Amino acid sequence: MINEKMLNALNEQVKHEMESAYLYLSMANYFYSINLPGMASWMKAQAHEEQVHAMKFFKHIVERNEEVKLQQIGLLATKWDNVLAAWKAAYDHELFITGKIKDLMKLALETGDYSAMPLLNWFLDEQIEEEEQTLEVVNMLEMAGTSGGTLILADQGLGHRKPGEGSSFA
Ligand code: MG
Repeated sequence: MINEKMLNALNEQVKHEMESAYLYLSMANYFYSINLPGMASWMKAQAHEEQVHAMKFFKHIVERNEEVKLQQIGLLATKWDNVLAAWKAAYDHELFITGKIKDLMKLALETGDYSAMPLLNWFLDEQIEEEEQTLEVVNMLEMAGTSGGTLILADQGLGHRKPGEGSSFA
């Protein structure tokens, strides 16, 4: 049994996570279109991770004997002005998602939903990583510039990420 307001917000979060997956797939498509397959591959791995996030909320709702109400997901964007703008948009999106998780935690506290808190704590931790890994790329591109040489090196570094793994350049 979940408080109605809380249940609606959890269902809403399934949508937000699926929209995140869609956004990162869209970015993968953009990076392929400008010949940056490493960044595209990174975004595909990220899109996969977002689907895993959506399923964590899905599972939580089902396990508490409530009904998942899937909502229409939107394609948030398909084009960006340049590579840096795309990575900034990814970082901004993660800030938005962090805000949503914090709203959920606030609601859990207000409604005394202690059962949701371990899941939400996991997501608060996860969001620190999500923000950090996108900001790291933004900072690197701002520092090094976006000349062809820099982009090729960044593309190679980011292309090392395997599906199911976290970031990064290393
Ligand atoms: Mg997520």
